[in-house]
Amino acid sequence: MALHSKSPSNSKRSVGSPGDFRNMVDRELPHYLALSLSRNKELIRATKGFMPPDEGTGLALSLHHCELPNLLPAVEIGSYAGLSAIYLGTVAKEQGRLLISVDHHHGSEENQLGWEYHDASLVDPVSGKMDTLYLFRRTIELAELGDSVVTVVADSERFASVYPGEIAFLFIDGGHGMDQAQNDFESWVPKIAPRGLLAIHDVFPDPALGGRAPFLLHQKALANGFSETMAQGSLRVMRRDPE
Ligand code: SAH
Ligand code: MG
Repeated sequence: MALHSKSPSNSKRSVGSPGDFRNMVDRELPHYLALSLSRNKELIRATKGFMPPDEGTGLALSLHHCELPNLLPAVEIGSYAGLSAIYLGTVAKEQGRLLISVDHHHGSEENQLGWEYHDASLVDPVSGKMDTLYLFRRTIELAELGDSVVTVVADSERFASVYPGEIAFLFIDGGHGMDQAQNDFESWVPKIAPRGLLAIHDVFPDPALGGRAPFLLHQKALANGFSETMAQGSLRVMRRDPE
């Protein structure tokens, strides 16, 4: 698995900084993770979603390196069919941590009819809406992660408004429109404890390769007390600086 060599976040600026684990994906994985990913290989292959294996592995490794107590949960915004949850849930299970995976399961803008990432097989014929909830539940069952993954079916901002606690790890991979991405950032990032991690997916420094919103969130985090610890494909992981 090669690192995205053109990524500007591979610059010298943060390589070698304390807690830097950006090259980990190319090295040996922890035994439990290697074992579990190989056991779930077919499931990972068969699960619909938007998470290439190198980025999924990077995501898993970043949670593996989260140094905060396991009482503090990890939160994922954007469950879809559970592909990223296999990676995060595997590590959460090993750590004795909970992964809270939040999605209204009606799809993002780009999943709707007429858009690039629409999958007609996921439209509920009765409601006429996209519905990925049953696929998510199936994936979590098959990956044997039921005790470690809390499934929240809700709008992410609405759920944030009633979720009072601190979190150890946040993965933002929900709606990629500017308003939605900003809402996810504003409502969830303040809950990340000092030294907690923020992972953002679909960060494309080159506008020709993808939408702007995740990239702007990445820039915003770096300007607001976060330092980068990993770049893998379009995945960026940052750590909140100690207080
Ligand atoms: N992490 C997934 C992909 C997520 S796709 C994977 O690994 O494959 C983005 C998801 O965000 C969609 O399932 C969509 O329903 C969800 N989403 C979009 N806007 C949302 C919102 N406001 N609240 C909750 N979920 C939202
Ligand atoms: Mg994504």
